[in-house]
Amino acid sequence: MAALSALPFLSFIPEKKKPVDRYKKGLVLSTWNFGLKANAAAAITLQNGGKAVDMVEAAGREMESDLTELSIGLGGLPDREGHTTLDACIMNHEGKAGSVCFLEKIMHPVSVARAIMEKTPHVILVGDGAQQFAVENGFSKDNYVNPAAEKAWKEWLIKSEYKPVINIENHDTIGILAQDAIGNLSGACTTSGLAFKMRGRVGDSPIIGSGLYVDNEVGAATATGLGETILRSCSSFLIVELMRQGKSPQEACEEAIHRLVKINEHIIKIEDYQACFLACNTNGDVGAYSVHPGFTYAIWKDGKPEVLPSKSLLS
Ligand code: ASP
Repeated sequence: MAALSALPFLSFIPEKKKPVDRYKKGLVLSTWNFGLKANAAAAITLQNGGKAVDMVEAAGREMESDLTELSIGLGGLPDREGHTTLDACIMNHEGKAGSVCFLEKIMHPVSVARAIMEKTPHVILVGDGAQQFAVENGFSKDNYVNPAAEKAWKEWLIKSEYKPVINIENHDTIGILAQDAIGNLSGACTTSGLAFKMRGRVGDSPIIGSGLYVDNEVGAATATGLGETILRSCSSFLIVELMRQGKSPQEACEEAIHRLVKINEHIIKIEDYQACFLACNTNGDVGAYSVHPGFTYAIWKDGKPEVLPSKSLLS
C-alpha cells in the first residue's frame, strides 16, 4: 500500500510541528497596556512547559482574578440593571473552540470556555445554562460586587444615557494570542463587555470569528472595541483569511479596519466608536491597527515584555 503522503489528495495534511529555534521562546500578544500583566502569566506558563492553550488561559485568568478591574471578570461594570455579565472564549491549535456568553457569578469565564471546548460537543453555552455547566464542573458561584463598579452604575443611572466612551481608561476587553515552544497557536478573549449594556447583550468577544480566530496553519487575530461594529464584519476570521491570501498581519489588520468602517458607515458615526485589531502569523510577525489612536498592545517576545502603540486609520 502507498504511504499516505504519496497520495496526492492527502498532500495538504500538515506535517506535525517539531520544536525549532525560531519558536523556542514563544510569543504572547495581548490587547491594551494591562496586557503586560496577562503576558507575564502566559510567559511563566510557557516556561513551565505549558502549551499555547495553557498560556492564553493563564493570561485570561490573571486578568479575571483582578477584582478591581472594571472591564473584565466579576469586578467589571454591570449592565443597565446592575448585573455584571461575562463573555469569554478560547480557541486552540486544532481549531477547537469554546465560548461562554452572558455568564454571571463565576470568577473564571475563560476556564469555563475551555471546559466547554474540552468536555462538551458544543462551542457556546449562554446564561443560566452556562452557569449550570460551570457549577457542575467544579466552578463555584461567587456573589462578589465591586464597590467601584456599583458606584459607577449608580452614577450612570442618574442620566441613564447609553454612550460607550472610546478608549475608556485605555483598556477594555483582553484578547490574547500565544505561540508556544513548538510553534502552535492559541487565543482567548475575556470581558465584562460594554458598560451599562442592555441585559442579555453579547458582544464580539465570545464569538468565534469576530472577537477571536485561530488557524494554526496561518495565524491568529483578536479584537477589542465596540462589539457591534466588529460582529457586523466578522473581523478576526477576516484577518486570518487575509493572511492566508498572503497579507502580512499588519496589512490584514489595516484592510479589516477599512472593511469594518465601510460596513458600519450608515449605522454609526466613526467618531462614536473605536475598533482595534491585533494579529500574528505563524512566523511570529505581528500586526495591530485601530480606527482611532489610543489603542495599545502588550507583546512578549524573546523573553522581552513591551507595550507598543498601534497605528490607526484616523489621527
Ligand atoms: N468588544 C467588547 C464588547 O463589545 C468590549 C471592548 O472590547 O471594549 O463587548
